[in-house]
Amino acid sequence: MSDSKPSSPLLSILPLAESPTWLGVMGGGQLGRMFAHAAQSMGYRVAVLEPTVKCPAGQVAEHVVEASYDDATGLHDLAVQCEAVTTEFENVPASSLEYLEKRVFVAPNASCVSIAQDRIAEKRFFVECAPHSGVMPAPHATIASHADIDAIEDDLLPGILKTVRMGYDGKGQVRVRTREDVRAAFDAMNGVTCLLEKMLPLAYEVSVLTARGHDGVSVVYPIAENVHRDGILFTTTVPGPNVSAACAKQAQDAATAIVAQLGYVGVLCIEFFVLADGSLVVNEMAPRPHNSGHYTIDACVTSQFAQQVRAMARLPLGEVRQHSPAVMLNILGDVWFEGGSEGDATAAREPAWDRILALPGANLHLYGKDDPRRARKMGHVTFVAPTLEQAQDSLRQACAILGITE
Ligand code: ATP
Ligand code: MG
Repeated sequence: MSDSKPSSPLLSILPLAESPTWLGVMGGGQLGRMFAHAAQSMGYRVAVLEPTVKCPAGQVAEHVVEASYDDATGLHDLAVQCEAVTTEFENVPASSLEYLEKRVFVAPNASCVSIAQDRIAEKRFFVECAPHSGVMPAPHATIASHADIDAIEDDLLPGILKTVRMGYDGKGQVRVRTREDVRAAFDAMNGVTCLLEKMLPLAYEVSVLTARGHDGVSVVYPIAENVHRDGILFTTTVPGPNVSAACAKQAQDAATAIVAQLGYVGVLCIEFFVLADGSLVVNEMAPRPHNSGHYTIDACVTSQFAQQVRAMARLPLGEVRQHSPAVMLNILGDVWFEGGSEGDATAAREPAWDRILALPGANLHLYGKDDPRRARKMGHVTFVAPTLEQAQDSLRQACAILGITE
């Protein structure tokens, strides 16, 4: 087969009956798995590139290219097989996406993903974008040397030292009070380049999920209110109990401005902090469907995964209307060990899914991971109900069943 296939950026990539249409995903985690479900339900076939075949997306995709994310043969095979490629996590090497872009339609593209991969580039972009978005990131400084630590302005402390690359779920982050703390944390991270962010007094956290098509048309989902625990998303509630109409509009307008400035194609989620005085601070963006957008599967006309399929296939974007109030609870490996001791695999116990599923409005999503570990995302459950209070009531009962302290 030819290395470069003719592909007009103006034509939609339709699922065809007589000759299967393949969509590709870089990465084989749960986001890739839920993407595959959505793509398959629309009639596409899905190929996943992932180093380990036994991965959440690999269990459902029609084809797995077993290769590392920078393997030229694997990337070539994916490009030849697929009409379009997307990514399910932001740490795919930008050079791999660049390679794919020469051969196949890629959304989001390498330049957008590379900004989100690097906290310094991301913050710089948010600052540049502020005249359009109306929001600024937290005060911050790059820490690449001990001299940078000496030069820290006092006002940045206490703060959080975050690695510039590869951070997720609060990993690669250390809370620091003093300059000495920064020095110790920087040394403990072996001197990799970090970003020091001022610790802000958060009233609550929100995220805005957007999608933008290749034609520049964008949609914005209802704002989601997020609660984190130990740096990991715990619950997402939509509509958010704390979110005012003014805050929602400001965050949604900011997100729309940000995706337009990026020239982005695909689903993108932007996390914001809301401070005690009601002001909005932009935290970070994820160039892909996001954990806080999982509620869209069960509560919106078009899920974030179906939206990603539409964007990468250059189809019209779907309606984002939410038809039910919703609460999403992440299910971490911890719930297998309630009453047991950490690290003792024999102590793992399957949670009572039958009792969870008996709760009103329950939609259980498990990711097919067979080794529960603490802090590992194993699944989520979304409760939908006619009122938010009813959904929250189911959430409370689920926490009790799973042994999670609310
Ligand atoms: P993920 O990829 O899971 O969203 P991450 O590891 O990239 O997380 P952040 O989103 O930057 O990290 O931070 C994780 C959480 O830590 C935030 O949701 C927030 O609760 C807290 N946090 C981060 N930065 C700040 C800050 N400057 N001030 C106060 N709290 C913060
Ligand atoms: Mg985050």
